[in-house]
Amino acid sequence: MSGRASAAANLPTDDASSLPAKNFGSEKSAPHIAIVGAGLTGLTAAWKLQRMGFAVTVFEKSQLIGGRTLSIRKDGFVFDTGAITLLPTYTNICSLVEELGIEKHLHRVNPIIGIPRGGKMHHLDISRPLRSLIGIQLISLGTKLRLLKLLGPMMRTWKKSNYQSLAALAEWDQETVADFVRREFGEEANEYIAGPVIRGNTLNSTACAPAGELLWMLRQYAAPFIYAFDQGINFLAETLAQRVPVELGAEIIDIKPIGNQVEIKGRCAQGEFSRTFDACILGLPPPQLSVLAPNLSVRQQQFLKQCKSLVSVNLHVGLRRRPDITETIILPPESEQPVLTTIVMDHLKAPGRAPEGKGLVTFYLRDSWCAENFAAPDAQILASVMEMAKPFIGDLSADVESFVVQRWPYAIIKSSVGLYRQIADYEADLDLNSRVQIGGDFLSMGMEAAVSSGAAMAERIGRIVSVATAKP
Ligand SMILES: Cc1cc2nc3c(=O)[nH]c(=O)nc-3n(C[C@H](O)[C@H](O)[C@H](O)COP(=O)(O)OP(=O)(O)OC[C@H]3O[C@@H](n4cnc5c(N)ncnc54)[C@H](O)[C@@H]3O)c2cc1C
Repeated sequence: MSGRASAAANLPTDDASSLPAKNFGSEKSAPHIAIVGAGLTGLTAAWKLQRMGFAVTVFEKSQLIGGRTLSIRKDGFVFDTGAITLLPTYTNICSLVEELGIEKHLHRVNPIIGIPRGGKMHHLDISRPLRSLIGIQLISLGTKLRLLKLLGPMMRTWKKSNYQSLAALAEWDQETVADFVRREFGEEANEYIAGPVIRGNTLNSTACAPAGELLWMLRQYAAPFIYAFDQGINFLAETLAQRVPVELGAEIIDIKPIGNQVEIKGRCAQGEFSRTFDACILGLPPPQLSVLAPNLSVRQQQFLKQCKSLVSVNLHVGLRRRPDITETIILPPESEQPVLTTIVMDHLKAPGRAPEGKGLVTFYLRDSWCAENFAAPDAQILASVMEMAKPFIGDLSADVESFVVQRWPYAIIKSSVGLYRQIADYEADLDLNSRVQIGGDFLSMGMEAAVSSGAAMAERIGRIVSVATAKP
């Protein structure tokens, strides 16, 4: 096998474990758990189990750590080419950062959100959301007053919106965001508030996403700042991979529970292999889970197979000078720019991501455009996107020093009406006592969902395997 994960520079040393470790006698007799996937789900599960005293091995099919939190270091820039936004509402990630002792790499940013309308940029300050919304000239006074009614559903769903599962939002799964917002708050609210929130965060459209997604997004951003890692978003996964054994270039192709053991078959550069473990955790996206996970119910199999993938082709640009732009994030409404959904001034988020005096900008685009342009050459994507962005950030094409085009055939689950009810059905069929636990980010959304899922699966395996081990 291709060996352990490569070391990232200047990683902090391991802290003392504060979790109670299980006593399995000698290290040799500690039950051995296989974990499939070195994304945040798998790595969190591995870390938590290791802290409980289990032996763990993470299998990763690619040569890279982190899955969809991929940071690419090139020409002095740190390009975050997958996930980009880390929120203070990600409480499990915040605890993990503390456990790992890497808090000093996490920086707080008070982002200025820009929403353009008719040639003017309007600013939303999330540290004072209500004051900012009252003062903003983006929407009329009538729409602002109507939007106050949104506080009711937000408060009703506040506790139900969590990163473990969106099943509790099933009552908001009967109509699209567009239908809900147009009816309750009017077209202006759909175009200039709901549109940027949904497009900017999920690349999806308000005409597709279920109404609950808007409430969920607003809940997630209920904090006055965002976080960013100075070493790139993948720093978290890279740090975890320093602490647990990871076998890179090892693709798992079959998983079979046999009595109290789980047989795992895989392939690597040296050929095929077969190994036996005490239990197994799969931390994968739905397309891979649907082919690999054993013992799924018919409903679960159907759900995983039918999950629609949100395709992303995102562009990351290193600029030889910092643009004179104060907005951290720009969210163009559909009527202003149908394809470009999000512009992030990454150099404003954390020090160290771009060389001194240089700029770093990320562009996200509508999923339908990404699907159509998935195979387009990098230079063509760069030229098209820089042209689309001109009305909002000016012509920066002469300042491009370095760039990365990243293509994700599966970025996140593409939500549509009915999704939350399908999640509830999927969960109802989960076997919480199985030695093969299945998870990922797809029951909720984003990195916090992945970390929560990894931690929950570790807790379940910890319980199942130690109970069995304790039996005479
Ligand atoms: C463009 C983009 C933007 C995003 N923006 C944000 C954001 O701003 N904020 C946020 O919170 N989230 C965001 N996300 C989502 C976030 O990245 C994911 O929720 C999270 O990283 C998922 O982690 P995971 O471990 O569940 O899956 P993954 O990261 O996909 O990890 C799965 C791993 O398993 C490996 N694997 C697959 N099959 C096998 C096999 N058979 N054998 C062995 N290994 C296998 C894969 O190579 C991969 O490394 C974004 C994602 C993308 C793509």
